[in-house]
Amino acid sequence: MGRVTPRAAIALVLLAALAACGPVQAGGVPDPQEIAARRVKAVATIGQIADVVRNVAGDRVDLVGLMGPGIDPHLYRASEGDVVSLADADIVFYNGLHLEAKMADVFEKMGGSVTTVAVTDEIDRDELLNPPEFEGAYDPHVWFDVSKWMSVTEVIRDSLVDIDPEHAETYEANARAYLAELEELDRYVAEQAQRVPEEQSVLITAHDAFNYFGEAYDFEVRGLQGISTATETGTADLSGLADFIVEREIPAIFVETSVPHRFIEALREAVASRGSQVSIGGSLFSDAMGDAGTPEGTYIGMVRHNIDTIVGGLTESRGGES
Ligand SMILES: [Zn+2]
Repeated sequence: MGRVTPRAAIALVLLAALAACGPVQAGGVPDPQEIAARRVKAVATIGQIADVVRNVAGDRVDLVGLMGPGIDPHLYRASEGDVVSLADADIVFYNGLHLEAKMADVFEKMGGSVTTVAVTDEIDRDELLNPPEFEGAYDPHVWFDVSKWMSVTEVIRDSLVDIDPEHAETYEANARAYLAELEELDRYVAEQAQRVPEEQSVLITAHDAFNYFGEAYDFEVRGLQGISTATETGTADLSGLADFIVEREIPAIFVETSVPHRFIEALREAVASRGSQVSIGGSLFSDAMGDAGTPEGTYIGMVRHNIDTIVGGLTESRGGES
C-alpha cells in the first residue's frame, strides 16, 4: 500500500466536505504489519464507548475521546480539531442509531478513508426498542442494559482484531476479563433494582435515556423530553407527568449531568403547586460519563452510581423532613 495520501490532506478534504457536500477522497486502510509496529490510532465518540475501547485495547491504542463529561451527544457537532483527529485515525467507533445525530454526515463521508464502526450494528434489531415517538428509528441508549453493552464490547474486540490481527490475543484476553466484570455489574444492578418496591419502581428523568434500563431491570420509565434532547418539552407533558407523580406517590425524580436541570426543577415545582412533594433524588449519568479519574468517569462506575442513586432516591420515605 505504501505511503497513503498525507493525513492532513484528508482532514482538509473532510473539512471542506463538512461545509460543502462533496465526496471524500479515500486514503486507504493501513497495512496490518505497519499497525502492528505502532499503536492503533482510535477515536470514540461518547465516553462509554471510549471506556470499552480503553479496556479492550489497553496500551495498544492512542485513543481520542470526542465527547467529555457533561456533553450531550444528540446536539454535538464535530469541531475542526475533531475532524483532524478523525481523519488521522485508523479506526473510529461511534454508537450509531442516530445518537450522534449531527455527526452522521462526517462519518458517512469518511467511509472510504477510515474504518468506521457503529458499535450497535451487531445487536439484533428485534432486541432494540422502537418507540413510536421516535418516528421509526431505534432508541440509541443501549448502554443502560449492561448485557447489550457486553455485545458492544465484543464488536469492539472483533474490530480491533480485524485491524491489528497481530495482537489478537491481547484484545481477546482483555475483552474476556472486561466481559467478566460486566457480567458481575449486570448482576449487581439487577439485585439492587429489586430493593425498590414494585409500586415505586418508576424512574423519571429529564430525557428518555433510560428505556433499556427500564426494560432490563424492571422499571417504568418516564422522560420529560423524549428520546432526543433536540425536542422541546411541552407544558402538557409537564402537567401530565406532575399528575402522575402525585397519583402514584413517586418519592423522587432525577436530573442528568448532560441535560439542563431546569426541566426537572419545573416538574418539581408543578408537583408542589398540586400540594404534593417530590424530591430530586440525585444526578444520573445518562449520555455522558463523569470526570476522568473519578469512579463515575468509567462505564462500570457510572452504572453503579446510577443504580445506587436511583435505589437511594426511590426507597427514601416520601416527603422527607423538610
Ligand atoms: Zn440521550
